[in-house]
Amino acid sequence: MSELHFDGIGMTSKRTRIRMIQRLEEQGIRNGKVLQIIANTPRHWFLDEALSHRAYEDTALPIGHGQTLSQPYIVARMTELLLDNHPAPRRVLEIGTGSGYQTSVLAQLVEKVWTVERIRPLQSKARDRLARLRLYNVHYKYADGGFGWADQGPFDGIISTAAPISIPADLLAQIAPDGVLIIPVGPEHNQQLTLVKREGSDDQYRQKIIEPVRFVPLVPGVT
Ligand code: SAH
Repeated sequence: MSELHFDGIGMTSKRTRIRMIQRLEEQGIRNGKVLQIIANTPRHWFLDEALSHRAYEDTALPIGHGQTLSQPYIVARMTELLLDNHPAPRRVLEIGTGSGYQTSVLAQLVEKVWTVERIRPLQSKARDRLARLRLYNVHYKYADGGFGWADQGPFDGIISTAAPISIPADLLAQIAPDGVLIIPVGPEHNQQLTLVKREGSDDQYRQKIIEPVRFVPLVPGVT
């Protein structure tokens, strides 16, 4: 777990960020820790300069290579689902590093984050951004995240920010006892954010549909 220090970060105005947090509360985000971390994370750092003035709008934004940075609501919601469904998540795996924004939110909440990305230039930019924020409790892998990260698992939480058609068996296998997997599932125009909870240490999984969402697809292989 790391805390951000803001000297020289050049955050946008406090008012803009307070408005974003108010919007998240109106949309039903309740977890104070999640709200606080989102309020303190410079989302504009995760976008190219031409788009950074839109960083605090409630919208998904392009990050190049046909990929998007999820809207703040979705980042908040997935993070809150993780915290609300595990007593104390310490080890978290993220599939789809993208800009690194969700990674940076997770890195401020849990002890260690492992993150997998299949597009190398996105991964290296994300790595630079997190280093600049001095978030060092993150491990990066350039690979097809559909296979998880077997030799580092199992994980208390797995968050996928790309949508497979159905849940990969490798991800289920890497959920620790009492752990959770939060993942959008389904074809492009019909995805459901899904929560899978592993009950105890048995191979018992309880699945719950949370809400319809729109994510980029989980694409097999690397580029
Ligand atoms: N969490 C990101 C969201 C990026 S969009 C953020 O906060 O910016 C989803 C990301 O998943 C994209 O960068 C895409 O390249 C990646 N992705 C898609 N399929 C993947 C796969 N099989 N393995 C790893 N990453 C994948």
